[in-house]
This record gives sequence, C-alpha cells and structure tokens, in this order.
Amino acid sequence: MSRVWNFSAGPAVLPLPVLEQIREELTDWQGAGMGVMEMSHRGKAFTGIIEAAEADLRSLLGVPGNYRVLFLQGGATQQFAQIPLNLLGTGGDGSADYIVTGSWSKKAFGEAARFGRVRCAASTEADRFTRLPTAAEYAFDPAAAYVHLCTNETIHGVEFPAEVTMATPAPLVADMSSHLLSRPFDVSRFGLIYGGAQKNVGPAGLTLVIVRDDLLGKAAAHIPSVMDYAVMAANGSMLNTPPTFAIYAAGLVFKWLQAQGGLAGIAGVNAQKAALLYACIDGSGGFYRNNIAADCRSRMNVPFTLSDPALDAAFLADSQAAGLIGLKGHKSFGGMRASIYNALPLDGVRVLVDFMNDFAKRHG
Ligand code: PMP
Repeated sequence: MSRVWNFSAGPAVLPLPVLEQIREELTDWQGAGMGVMEMSHRGKAFTGIIEAAEADLRSLLGVPGNYRVLFLQGGATQQFAQIPLNLLGTGGDGSADYIVTGSWSKKAFGEAARFGRVRCAASTEADRFTRLPTAAEYAFDPAAAYVHLCTNETIHGVEFPAEVTMATPAPLVADMSSHLLSRPFDVSRFGLIYGGAQKNVGPAGLTLVIVRDDLLGKAAAHIPSVMDYAVMAANGSMLNTPPTFAIYAAGLVFKWLQAQGGLAGIAGVNAQKAALLYACIDGSGGFYRNNIAADCRSRMNVPFTLSDPALDAAFLADSQAAGLIGLKGHKSFGGMRASIYNALPLDGVRVLVDFMNDFAKRHG
C-alpha cells in the first residue's frame, strides 16, 4: 500500500486506523450482515452509533449539559445563512456583529447580510488579514444578538488563541471548521460552535453544530424546519435522514482521538508539527515566507510563498514526485499552503521540511 502525505485543506487526510476499520466493516458492520451505509437511521444499530458519537464528542470537548450537539448537512456555508435565520429573532429584526479576519469570516458576513442586519465589529482586511484585531479595535454594538468570528482562517492561516478573551456584549458564534478538535478550549465561552467535518472531524457531508439551549427557539418564523436548530434538536438531528455514513466515520475519528490522549494529547503533536514547519520557513533566509503575525499563526493551515514565484511550478511538481500532495495555495491567495490537521502525522511534516530545505538548497 502506498499512501501520500496529504496536505490538502479539506477534504483532508483521515487517520489510517479509521480508514482500515471502515474497510473492515464496510460490508458487515459488527455482525449486522450489512454495512452502515445500508442501515436504517432509525434502527437499533445506527441509533447506537450516533449516540456513541455524540457521547464521545461531548467528552472530548467537555461540552456542558446545557448545549445540544447537532449532526447536520449543508456544510459551514449553509450555517452562514442558518445562523442569522435562527438567531436574529422570530421577527428577524435583530442585528449581529461580525469580526472579519480572513476570507471565511468575510464570506459569513456577506451571506448574513442577505438575511438580516449585520455590522462589522472589527476587520483586519486593510492589513491583508495578516493579524488579529487588537483589543482596542473591537467596536461592538451593545444590542447585538450575537458576535460571529472564524477562529481559524483556513486560507489566510490566522488563528485565534484557544481562549478568546475579548469582552463581547452577546454570545460568541464561532466557525471552527478548520481547527475543531485540534486542541482543548472552553466550550462555555461560546453560544454556538460550528464546522464542516471534512478537515479534522471526518468525511464531507456532515456539519457539526454545538448550540447553547437558550439560543434555541428564536428562529425566524418563515424558515424551513430542517434549518431550525430547535426542531433539529427536538428530533435528535433526525427530523429527516442524517448523513449516516459520515456520522459513523466521525465517531471512529472520535475514538481514535481518545486513543491519542484526547485533545490535550493531539494538541501536543499539533504544536510540534507547526513549530517544525514555521521554523523551516523562518530559517530559510527569506526563500520561504509566511507574513502572519507570530502570535496568531495558524497551527493547522500554514500558507507560505516562495521568494521567486517562478519556482512555484517546480516546487509543486517536485513535492508531488516526492509523495507530498495538496500543497498548492488557495486560488485567491496563491503560493503554497500546508494543512497539517490532526490526522497528518509528525513524520509527514518531517518529510515536508526535509523536502523544503533540500529544494531551497537546490534553488537558493
Ligand atoms: N469556513 C471555513 C473556516 C472553511 O475552511 C470552509 C471550507 N474550506 C468553510 C467555512 C466552508 O465550508 P463548507 O465547504 O463545509 O461549506
């Protein structure tokens, strides 16, 4: 078997033991005589799978009892709309504040503006999203229904610290798509957390929403019931057929994370991986560059440029030939990006760094 080192931003690498277990159980899940894809979502076997997945996710993250865990579809992009539709009040006449620190929070802000009144409470766009706002730059509306932020910007490589400290007048709503489960954090600091699964959690098709009870039941009257958090919570995420196979696979990822020492365990490895890669970039004498302020560099998505963009094509071709794939930067940003999610092993980053050092020596 030959597996590449996969640095894709998402869908992304999954833990090999998880894939092997899926292969093992694909046609006969634990003696059921059928695979999970073929099972009724209302049957005993799948009920056990989703309940175990929720229990394991709750214990990994330390989700307090007054939060609902929802297994939804539609991706984080659907949440960009679903959040204002649910949280701006039954008349939809509230207003929300958005912190804009990169492409994804900017998209969330733009989409929310289609459904209600939104304000920008701080933006670092003038600095090309290379830093987070300072405490003094936040200007919140005391009447805001919620404050939205993206705690890890997948394209720009900007990450908030694990403990978000700014004082806000309203519940924090966080897009954590690209670093959920990569380190411990205090869930109770947030009113709602969401993310597409296809980076750190499991396969595409599953969207996680963790929402505090008091934020349920405020949805605008006209929204589809499948988009109403309160309806989904009352139905255990099964108003309709949930993405069963993705939930099963995510459940296996949660078990794998427990075996890594939980979020504290995986956070240690993630810190080592990020330190290695940034040290390579910073130590390259300018051959490679990442211009994000040091205290908000993402531990998950590391964008970098080559001093001579004419070398980009050779870098991509040579890295691919060396079994390192998915390093091309986002089309809106250019350059390179290495996504080093939970399931990308430390050895993969070592191989990448050796390749980068060698490439710089050959072309520097
Ligand atoms: N937010 C962030 C931070 C992301 O990285 C992405 C996907 N790259 C999205 C939102 C959009 O997610 P989806 O494709 O699941 O809608």
